Amino acid sequence: MPNKHYDYIIVGAGSAGCVLANRLSANGKYSVCILEAGPADKTPFAKIPAAFGYFMFSKKYNWAYEAKAEPSIRNGIPIFVPRGKTLGGSSSTNAMLYIRGQKQDYDHWASLGNEGWSYDSMLPYFKKSECNTRGISQYHGASGPLHVSDGTHDSYPVNKAFIKASQQAGYNITDDFNAGSQEGAGYYQCTIKEGQRCSSARAYLTPVLSRSNVTVIVEALTTKILVEHKKATGIEFTKNNKTQIIMANKEVIISGGAINSPQLLMLSGIGEQQQLQQQGIHCIHNLPGVGKNLQEHVDACVLVKSKKRDGLTTSIRGLARMLPDTIKYFFSKQGKLANTITEAGAFLKSNENVQRPDIQLHMAPLLYDDNGRALNLMRSEGYSCHVCVLRPKSTGTITLKSADPTVSPEIDYNFFSHPDDKKILVDGIKVVRKIFAAPAFDSYRAEEIHPGIKVQNDEDIFIKSKELLGTVFHPVGTCKMGQDDNAVVDQELKVHGINSLRVVDASIMPTLISGNTNAPTIAIAEKAAEMILYQTD
Ligand SMILES: Cc1cc2nc3c(=O)[nH]c(=O)nc-3n(C[C@H](O)[C@H](O)[C@H](O)COP(=O)(O)OP(=O)(O)OC[C@H]3O[C@@H](n4cnc5c(N)ncnc54)[C@H](O)[C@@H]3O)c2cc1C
Repeated sequence: MPNKHYDYIIVGAGSAGCVLANRLSANGKYSVCILEAGPADKTPFAKIPAAFGYFMFSKKYNWAYEAKAEPSIRNGIPIFVPRGKTLGGSSSTNAMLYIRGQKQDYDHWASLGNEGWSYDSMLPYFKKSECNTRGISQYHGASGPLHVSDGTHDSYPVNKAFIKASQQAGYNITDDFNAGSQEGAGYYQCTIKEGQRCSSARAYLTPVLSRSNVTVIVEALTTKILVEHKKATGIEFTKNNKTQIIMANKEVIISGGAINSPQLLMLSGIGEQQQLQQQGIHCIHNLPGVGKNLQEHVDACVLVKSKKRDGLTTSIRGLARMLPDTIKYFFSKQGKLANTITEAGAFLKSNENVQRPDIQLHMAPLLYDDNGRALNLMRSEGYSCHVCVLRPKSTGTITLKSADPTVSPEIDYNFFSHPDDKKILVDGIKVVRKIFAAPAFDSYRAEEIHPGIKVQNDEDIFIKSKELLGTVFHPVGTCKMGQDDNAVVDQELKVHGINSLRVVDASIMPTLISGNTNAPTIAIAEKAAEMILYQTD
């Protein structure tokens, strides 16, 4: 039987992949096939905003990777690395915060030689993607597929205390992190539409499934990019234990995310020659940057027991408190279940000598550790504030542990290999403590259980913080855009040295943006789709 041909083959139906499938098929001229390793997003939990925690325990909808263990971090227990594995990818399992980062992040990309990637060049793509319930403005769009809305801000009163305390501690309050200056504390806007998660799949893919030129193949693991004479010609994938091949008339586009995209390139013989040879893989193109430059928001926390009983707990009493909201949600799509659990937060300077925010805070109305998997801890009443380093200088790697595509790659964050990250994180903990010490928390504040009130000097704070160290789930940079020796794609996201092959996802970011990465990844895909169509038409 002859292999099927499509104009564009997209590997990975995540935040970026769904955008591409929609935009590349829109004019009806081109056939598009998008492959997703995970199942369809049919679980009801994919729609309920507060069901975020469910996915942390799922093996079906989550790649559930583990990073390379490091003895001084989490007492040697590997950091958990959740990644969405379903239509919508991580946008179907994420916390839904809608953040773009800072103007300087994109201007920095452009200053590295990536023409067309400055903030002014990217803003139109953010606006194009967005349907913000606040309406159209200089910074916001109101007719795009991705719904962005305000929460009700009344789910957990401790969030109000956080905003008030931030003000009392001397910080700005902002009602929009995505317009002008990002600095201040406030409520996050979220990718939620009428009480339901608006994943990239729901925004971009579901509405175009009826197009005759769109083919979606789920539960299909792409195992190899087929390359002939340095030109990508198709891909090989497995579905139902059968290996199949499909061919691309125009391009193969890899959108597997920052862990899986470099893995797939390496499995296909594109990567550092020596490393590939160690795994017995024939190197068809020596591209040393593949899998290098891994950047992630390293995250620490302050956990405090609460005197009040109005937060989220897994105790019988706490679960009983959720019952009316659960009923309310099923009848009206309103209440606590219609909101994210991290409604409030801040972008702040870790100290007064810093020019622009270098830390992000995520406030949570519960004792939150280990990605919400620390269920015993969550039995007690309490609240947490997580703080992450917005522009870490430490970089890690993704490498192959095996030539077998079903074996997880090695994820080595290499946290704190650059000393500046340590200072910012420690200063960040002090900022959180300053906010938690403000009068607005007087009626809440009981014992600080982490790092613990006895832990006061910088070195002790650092050592203790590493015991509950985590991430904000924002790996990027492993197929970075640029022209230097470690660049994997050029400014049109074409893989250096291989024709008809692009990478379009969070992995192309040369440096991590100052905030959550879903909206930026969607904007990257919007821009990529336009570039691809412009070059094809
Ligand atoms: C738990 C969690 C919480 C987060 N919270 C937020 C938040 O609140 N706000 C925010 O802005 N960002 C958040 N993020 C980050 C954000 O969701 C990601 O940065 C973004 O979704 C990345 O998009 P992507 O297209 O690069 O990858 P993904 O969306 O992860 O998509 C990659 C897709 O490719 C598929 N795939 C991979 N390899 C293959 C293969 N070989 N064959 C076939 N398919 C393959 C995967 O299954 C997946 O569906 C969070 C992420 C996680 C995991």
